[in-house]
Amino acid sequence: MASYIGDRAVVLGASMAGLLAARVLSDRYGQVVVIERDELPEGPTHRRGVPHDRHIHALAARGQQVLEELFPGLTSDLVDHGAPAGDLLTDARFYFSGHLLQRTHTGLILLGASRPFLEEHVRSRVRAIANVRILDRCDSVGLATTSDSRRVTGVRVLRRADGSAEELLGADLVVDASGRGSRTPAWLEAHGYLRPEREEVQIGLGYATRTYRLPPHVAEQPIAILDAATPQLPRTGAFQRLEGDRCLLTLAGILGDHPPTDPDGFLDFARSLRFPDTYEAIRDAEPLDDPIGFRFPASVRHRYERLPRFPAGLLVLGDAVCSFNPIYGQGMSVAALEALTLRRHLERGVEPNPHRWFRDLARVVGVPWDMSAGGDLAFPDVPGHRTVKIRLLGAYLSRLHAVAADDAPLAAAFMRVAGLVAPPQSLLHPVLAVRVLRGERTLRRTPAGSH
Ligand SMILES: Cc1cc2nc3c(=O)[nH]c(=O)nc-3n(C[C@H](O)[C@H](O)[C@H](O)COP(=O)(O)OP(=O)(O)OC[C@H]3O[C@@H](n4cnc5c(N)ncnc54)[C@H](O)[C@@H]3O)c2cc1C
Repeated sequence: MASYIGDRAVVLGASMAGLLAARVLSDRYGQVVVIERDELPEGPTHRRGVPHDRHIHALAARGQQVLEELFPGLTSDLVDHGAPAGDLLTDARFYFSGHLLQRTHTGLILLGASRPFLEEHVRSRVRAIANVRILDRCDSVGLATTSDSRRVTGVRVLRRADGSAEELLGADLVVDASGRGSRTPAWLEAHGYLRPEREEVQIGLGYATRTYRLPPHVAEQPIAILDAATPQLPRTGAFQRLEGDRCLLTLAGILGDHPPTDPDGFLDFARSLRFPDTYEAIRDAEPLDDPIGFRFPASVRHRYERLPRFPAGLLVLGDAVCSFNPIYGQGMSVAALEALTLRRHLERGVEPNPHRWFRDLARVVGVPWDMSAGGDLAFPDVPGHRTVKIRLLGAYLSRLHAVAADDAPLAAAFMRVAGLVAPPQSLLHPVLAVRVLRGERTLRRTPAGSH
């Protein structure tokens, strides 16, 4: 057993990023305390602090691999408890740029798990670690520092109980994983530091999701169907089978074209999609709730790596650093990759240096951010500067999708990139580029039902 770097690390937020950070910190700190404002449920139920957990949460292939590395046996646990699993391309249907990708074996695992179910399994694994304590119903209300504010020395917390007063929880290291609403930028400013620059891509996204009991012809259903928005029809439909013989239909539209949350309007929106597959997947299914909406105005990236000064003893990760357009299904997997980066920093045996941390984090976040921002800028009305590189890549990807409708290796190569397993440059490899550029197929529409 390696010696500890410090006595106590405190993590703010017990959602995916916080739990994964706690897992790797527990190897290097005597005690890890996770502060969570919500009352945490014992089972896989929704909670207030994660309102997005009602919507489809696809776990990218790389995210699945990292979760399995951090918690060996997690995938089979999920499957044993009812999560459908299969191959990413043989057991799903993906429409990109209006083309159904060729269905072929990829060797990558596709899991159908609701967000609360996945989070609950991860949380129970973290709870079982002897030196981790999760303190729920507890708000972190500020940070404690040395008198010159150069080092963070702990967290000020307020328990959600009658008559409770603010307490100080001392820490050798504080990790902020409190999500999009993180108060670290405001806190930095209050202590004489600069706020990080904030980059945004205004997408004006609206989600609506409804849960169903699986329809009777379940054996024929793929685990997931994605009918991704195109500039011609910027509406998305996503279907996912889940544990407990249920399934979800999530609909999404951008720039104010939001799916309604009344049942009739919701179905009309589903019928308006380019391909009938997502609507047909739930047509005979019994709804278990009413559609629930969610608004996501913009993807946001905080450029902590550009700050000239940052206090020691504090790190930030997860959505608190970068929250991507959720339609690309990256956030949880990026949080998992960030946990691996944190583990690498901790393996040096000394407290992570914030400047090095944010520099390395920017590398982890950079690729998915470019994929998300570049994808959004393909929609002409989304505000933002389109560089020549972005335009060329957008055109290349549209052509790749068209060719991949008939080209299994190309389809698999694309899904490796979308699943964060391979870098986007891999799609420019000469062997693949030749297939894309010489592909016989033009951007003709894939006939529905030809799969
Ligand atoms: C609609 C939607 C759909 C998404 N779909 C996908 C998907 O398909 N695939 C995917 O990989 N990702 C998806 N994501 C992103 C994913 O949910 C996040 O990236 C992931 O949960 C990691 O977030 P996080 O842990 O950093 O923050 P969050 O999940 O936001 O959690 C923050 C936690 O901190 C707690 N907290 C906040 N403030 C305080 C405080 N002051 N004191 C104590 N606790 C506090 C909150 O209660 C919460 O538990 C989606 C996001 C949205 C919005």
